[in-house]
Amino acid sequence: MAKLKILEFPDPRLRTKATPVVAVDDELRKLIGDMLETMYAAPGIGLAATQVDVHQRLLVTDVSVDRDDPHVLINPEILEKDGVIATDEGCLSVPGYYEEVERSEHIKVRFLDREGVEVELESRGLLAVCIQHEIDHLDGKLFVDYLSEAKRTRIRKKLEKERRQQAVV
Ligand code: ZN
Repeated sequence: MAKLKILEFPDPRLRTKATPVVAVDDELRKLIGDMLETMYAAPGIGLAATQVDVHQRLLVTDVSVDRDDPHVLINPEILEKDGVIATDEGCLSVPGYYEEVERSEHIKVRFLDREGVEVELESRGLLAVCIQHEIDHLDGKLFVDYLSEAKRTRIRKKLEKERRQQAVV
């Protein structure tokens, strides 16, 4: 397995709308392994393929305390959602920033697992939030899009400044 490079806001590639996975094969399973390794190493609780510059509808997540309960969602589709939950969200593509975002508290999602088997999953709370956050990535959307434009611009400028400083040293 290999750790992958994570794209960071405002990289325009994060705005790409991912296309459906056509074959769940060994090549895809290798990518899944690399994405899990990248997510755990970061560390993060979710990672969408978009964030590693692969524009296919695939995401991984693990919200367990012991980091031993990964979910792999291929071509995820939300079938039902209800309730409202506000969570302080962060994102591996927007490092260092946490802002409150409202999402559905409960979702039912359909997807293919890493063997290509169709699965339906009901989730609540943090897992539901994480899956919605990662599906947004597949649609080219970031959690900062839920914030005011002023706040989003401030985050973008700070990140760009930090990156310039990193480039100098
Ligand atoms: Zn994210």
